Amino acid sequence: MSSNSPLEDVQPRVRDLLDEIVQTRRDIHRHPELGFKEKRTAELISARLASLGIPVKRLAGTGVVGLIQGGKPGKTILIRADMDALPLQEENETDYRSEVPSVMHACGHDAHVATALATARLLNDEKENLRGNVKFMFQPAEEKPGGAKPMIREGVLKSPDVDAAIGLHVWNSLPVGKVAIRPGPIMAAADEVTIKVIGKGGHGAAAYQAIDPVVIAAHLVTALQSVASREVDPLQSVVLSICSIHAGHAFNIIPPSVDLRGTVRSFDSALRQELPGRIERIVKGVTSAFGATYEFDYRMGYPPTVNDVEISALVDHCAEELVSVREVIRSEISMGGEDMSYILNEVPGCFFFLGTQNAEKGFDFPHHSPRFDIDESALPIGAEIFQAVVHRYLETTVLDAELNFGGGAESE
Ligand SMILES: [Zn+2]
Ligand SMILES: [Zn+2]
Repeated sequence: MSSNSPLEDVQPRVRDLLDEIVQTRRDIHRHPELGFKEKRTAELISARLASLGIPVKRLAGTGVVGLIQGGKPGKTILIRADMDALPLQEENETDYRSEVPSVMHACGHDAHVATALATARLLNDEKENLRGNVKFMFQPAEEKPGGAKPMIREGVLKSPDVDAAIGLHVWNSLPVGKVAIRPGPIMAAADEVTIKVIGKGGHGAAAYQAIDPVVIAAHLVTALQSVASREVDPLQSVVLSICSIHAGHAFNIIPPSVDLRGTVRSFDSALRQELPGRIERIVKGVTSAFGATYEFDYRMGYPPTVNDVEISALVDHCAEELVSVREVIRSEISMGGEDMSYILNEVPGCFFFLGTQNAEKGFDFPHHSPRFDIDESALPIGAEIFQAVVHRYLETTVLDAELNFGGGAESE
């Protein structure tokens, strides 16, 4: 790092911004909006960016993109924040609790927006010295059905082309002051399988005249376990759980069919692509062995979230240097899904976890709980890390970049 490192004087400025970050977060927390309905949130973000003189574009309905063009040419790094809430009635008694019945920021996306906006303000103040550009992506509907993919389709990674991406998730199982980073896979792909076993209904007392789909489904559930236990390298992770079985209504009627539904979690992209074929092969074999037929539907959910090794090391390094970070740990792998994964499929990047747990203050309820709340003092740390990573990334990867924001063919 050069002697005039931006890290040396960032602390007091970020601390000064704490009030503003908290205010923004609480404002959004009071007014939560569900996926693709983040109208007020998008307007708040747009207005804030515009007030800083940052050009703003709207993508995928409620998505917002802002671009800080640095004073010197260079690469473009993207900071991503999701902005949607959950269909949940808040049970906290704080004065900033949700004012919208049955809608709540119970995952912390309000904090993500506030932190990214604070970062935009910090970086905008010093844009003349930036060697490259910083793009801010505020995306809708992370919880469902996913806003990253449509924003990519509408060009968020173009004009100028994004070279790297970073994002964070506040994390309530991690104490405040800690940051968890992991190169490689960090969150799972979450896919969905639906199977209908079609037999022949009949009298429960005359099963020989029927083709009993219940017995076949029982064999099938057992046989499917061999996909994870016998067909996948034990050093790879796959979970296949049949979580729902529906058939029949009476004690003496063999139903004509059985419906099964399950979730399939995996990390490796190549393996993930093979799983539907392997599962269907077993479904086909088992049903045909018993003289039945089947219907098979497989829906790919969010892909696995895979961090780039070099960018992860960069984030790790920057976090280690900050005095406000007590400890940087290697993150555990989560079997949850994240649509940041679509961005990381396109460009190298790092998605990391920012500790927001503080049991003494009661901030230790899990994500998606009606009592979820965070220790907000963590949020400036997130902004500091973003700022440091941007500087370090742009300073070490200077390249000529063509700026074409707002005038590109794919612009609105
Ligand atoms: Zn969530
Ligand atoms: Zn979340």
